[in-house]
Amino acid sequence: YFLEQGLLRSIRSGELRRLFLWHFAEEIEHKETVFKLLQSVSRSWLLRALGLAFSFGTFILSLGLGTLLLAGKTGAMRTTGFWNELLQHCGTREGLLATIVKESVRYLRPGFKPSLAESRTLLDSALAELERLGVERPIARPTSSARPMPAAFRERMAPGLQRVRRLQPGNPFFAAPIDGYDGAWVQSQGARKLNFCTYSYLGLLGHPRIEEAAQAAIARYGTGTHGVRLLGGNLELHEVLEDRIAAFFAREAAITFSSGFMTNLAVIAALVGRGDHVLSDKRNHASIVDGCRLSGAEVTTFAHNDMAELEDHLQRLPDDARKLIVVDAVYSMDGDIAPLAALIALRDRYPNSLLMVDEAHSLGVLGSRGRGIEEHFGCSGQIDVLMGTLSKTIPAQGGYIAGSRELITFLRFNARGFVFSAALPPTTAAAALAALDLIDSEGQSRRTRLMANLTYFVGRLRTAGFDVGSSASAIVPIILGSEALAFDMARRCNLENLYAMPVAFPAVAQGAERLRLNVTSDHLRVDLDFAVGVLIRARAAIEQATGQQLRLGPCVHKRCSKE
Ligand code: PMP
Repeated sequence: YFLEQGLLRSIRSGELRRLFLWHFAEEIEHKETVFKLLQSVSRSWLLRALGLAFSFGTFILSLGLGTLLLAGKTGAMRTTGFWNELLQHCGTREGLLATIVKESVRYLRPGFKPSLAESRTLLDSALAELERLGVERPIARPTSSARPMPAAFRERMAPGLQRVRRLQPGNPFFAAPIDGYDGAWVQSQGARKLNFCTYSYLGLLGHPRIEEAAQAAIARYGTGTHGVRLLGGNLELHEVLEDRIAAFFAREAAITFSSGFMTNLAVIAALVGRGDHVLSDKRNHASIVDGCRLSGAEVTTFAHNDMAELEDHLQRLPDDARKLIVVDAVYSMDGDIAPLAALIALRDRYPNSLLMVDEAHSLGVLGSRGRGIEEHFGCSGQIDVLMGTLSKTIPAQGGYIAGSRELITFLRFNARGFVFSAALPPTTAAAALAALDLIDSEGQSRRTRLMANLTYFVGRLRTAGFDVGSSASAIVPIILGSEALAFDMARRCNLENLYAMPVAFPAVAQGAERLRLNVTSDHLRVDLDFAVGVLIRARAAIEQATGQQLRLGPCVHKRCSKE
């Protein structure tokens, strides 16, 4: 209303106007919550009247205070125009107070349906205005020690910041803090939402046995260690965990790192260097991409899962050149699986080749005993550098490599991310250890539930016309093909308490933006039905708003998979 009426146009101070616009945009988002509440109580006239009286009172109070501050600061209070705007009819327009009363009384009309679309339109116009003004989110006053960024750095940061500023205001669910977990649910922004953004594929996060183990580790060792593993941080617990990981994958030895990301960085950079070659799948995880860059080796990428192209590259390399072939076992944004048998065959055909596989999303999920991709394809013991994370099915933190004793000893003293980074906290190591035991004792029944859920969910989504790509694991992408669409779908899902997040560039290629829904063994059939219902409603609402049918057929995905 303020924007439309141009009430603040005459105010000189740009800062006040900007602050106001920002606040206005935020208010509208809060209003969405109120609207949702109103929708659920709208059958009771009394409740609506009470709600209105209460919100009206607080609104008038804030408005009064805000008006006083604005008018006091700008001196507008001394002008008659100001009071006219506030109280009276002014030309053909109504005064602000009259408009507010009129708008509010709408809430009491029988059959009144609050319209989110209406508030969205207002929000969008406020945001467009902010964009036009180049407004930044009002930030806390810098402390005395903070100094402004030098111009050259601001310039570098500008595109990234602009993107966040464009995306965040209209999508309050995005990166919002979570207050707690409860099985398949999360509590965020005052709502209990059904969680489809989780890596706890077997539902082990929150398992009492894991928590007991972590608590016992605190009681024994405290919360941290005294340093890096080679200089005072090496606990007996770390070695027990590494022996357990080695035994779990039937390898001679294992080593753990402080994160999965660090594992890939440190290990690739330790295994290859200048003059060597890495052959990397185009859809490998960012940590592999960065590890390749850090190594200084010649990096050649091949089209996703394209073994003919990989072979083509291998053929061109001299026999005596060191070649590291590196892939994800399950691709984190698509959920499809690497063709392990073909990779092993190529590794064997070309001399001086080593095969490294990242099992972040396959540990516990693939294979009859949850051993991952080797077990899935019946190729146990074939991968040279078996990498995985302790932060997904194992609900802790860290990464590991399992392999030959020679390899692990080399890494222990040469992988910089191990040598120069603090040891895993004892709680983490103990939790990971307990989780490995649980994968053995409870994994099978949990995996059976997970796979049944997955088949059901993917089947229902496909029937409903969603493009879920070629997922064959717990990761289910819904490919939408644009960032705006992915955010819009995710926003609508979150408004209905379906906790789903958009995935955009650089996590996926431009044009391959999507929602990614991860299924777990904790989901019930009703949960999956609920999610499908929400997605169908969100799609219908978008189609209604845009007047266009969404092209969610497989063609969208085909296009992006040719990249
Ligand atoms: N590899 C893959 C395939 C991943 O998906 C991830 C994280 N999503 C990592 C490595 C990094 O693991 P972490 O989060 O434990 O650092």
